[in-house]
Amino acid sequence: MITIGNVKIGGGHFAIIAGPCSVESEEQILEVAKSVKASGAAMLRGGAFKLRTSPYDFQGMKAEGLELLLKAKEKTGMPVVTEIISAGHLPLFEDVDVIQIGARNMQNIELLKAVGKTGKPVLLKRGFASTLEELLMSAEYIMSEGNKNVILCERGIRTFETYTRNTLDLSAIPALRELTDLPVIVDPSHATGKASLVESMALAAVAAGADGLMIEVHNNPAEALCDGPQALTPEQFAHVAAKAFQIRRVLE
Ligand code: PEP
Ligand code: MN
Repeated sequence: MITIGNVKIGGGHFAIIAGPCSVESEEQILEVAKSVKASGAAMLRGGAFKLRTSPYDFQGMKAEGLELLLKAKEKTGMPVVTEIISAGHLPLFEDVDVIQIGARNMQNIELLKAVGKTGKPVLLKRGFASTLEELLMSAEYIMSEGNKNVILCERGIRTFETYTRNTLDLSAIPALRELTDLPVIVDPSHATGKASLVESMALAAVAAGADGLMIEVHNNPAEALCDGPQALTPEQFAHVAAKAFQIRRVLE
């Protein structure tokens, strides 16, 4: 079990992390934060430093985005999760509650060691071509620096299928359960890339025993600067969260 402020995850505790792919403005992050909190999300996500496939795409609001995310934390009381892309940015992450290591950096060993030294909870996403063994070894790099607060995140792996952005490996949940005591969460947003598929994969993940979910939510998905097609509206998220909590209760 990992404790982040008043939020517990793992060891029988279930939590949902929700928020936009990227922080885009004060208005946007605050509006999304308030709505997902009202629907039961325990933590707020929002990317400030983005690692995009194309250098011509929006790269995030960077330090300014972090400030806006922290403002939303202050206003709502929700712990925040955001991705780090360079160890040099660590001083900016002082007030961030959970540091995310993205799929593209899962095997950035120096970055893993650097976040390990902070002692802060780390959300480690599985690389899209990484085995579970490799994911666990990356978690070991963080833990070998004395930081045991690692949350593993299955976010889909690359297969021959192109209809979905990635292929959600649901079996990773029970498999990791056999291999480790670390909390395991699922990100159905990046796993599918399609808002229409997020609900069913989120519920399947809960049914398979996930300790939590990370879901992208935007107040206006059509205008999102990043990952709009997979973003849920606050209303859609409210519906998915309610169902996820229901399934969780059935399993208890
Ligand atoms: C994200 O969560 O914003 C993200 C970029 O995800 P991933 O690293 O899984 O692609
Ligand atoms: Mn995204």
